Amino acid sequence: MRKKILQIIDENRDNIEALRDHLFAAFNKTENKNYDSKNASPEEEEEITRWIVSNEIHFIGFDNTEDVRRVFVNETSKVSFLTQSHCNICQDKLPISNFPVRITPKTRQTKTKLKNEFIKQFLNSPFGKELNFSKKDKLCVKLVFVFNRIRDKDLDNMAKLTLDALKELIQIDDKNIDHLELIKFKARYLESFIYIRISKSDVNTANNVILKGKHMTWAGLTKLDE
Ligand SMILES: [Zn+2]
Repeated sequence: MRKKILQIIDENRDNIEALRDHLFAAFNKTENKNYDSKNASPEEEEEITRWIVSNEIHFIGFDNTEDVRRVFVNETSKVSFLTQSHCNICQDKLPISNFPVRITPKTRQTKTKLKNEFIKQFLNSPFGKELNFSKKDKLCVKLVFVFNRIRDKDLDNMAKLTLDALKELIQIDDKNIDHLELIKFKARYLESFIYIRISKSDVNTANNVILKGKHMTWAGLTKLDE
């Protein structure tokens, strides 16, 4: 069955409706059900998700080659992909931490009282307390803001407030973040929350530049701040 499901995904990844129809048909046939792909309840869709996962299919969006369209079993697996995929810039070194904070994203423009409340709640995040980064570590931080039916917000404003809270949670300095990646994901099914990935960044510590020369021509640009 695993092979069959993977084949359905592979052959229909460019047409998500057809992909759903084929998956429903395969599920109905195997499990002797009669679920309608155009009109399935969330519980029925959950059941099909469990069926897919029970066939040891977990990470389908992760192992893509560049020319095929990524598909995900559900929003949870899409958010996992967004948060857990490795950084292409930093050479990720352990420790790597991935954890959700179950809190609705707010921005630095939020009223002070709510902002303080946000930081207070953020500090109760159970995973954050177990992190093992020292004050000297240079960090690569990825923040994924998951939205569901809340007013749209600017990424930079959400990032600032979240980083202020994160700084208090894990006792690090903003200045030690050498690489920051921000993603906004508008969910239809998941609740609003923030997912955080932290690893060490070697952007400034790698010692991987070979020669001293600076071969930058600027193509006639004048320096603006002199
Ligand atoms: Zn990075």
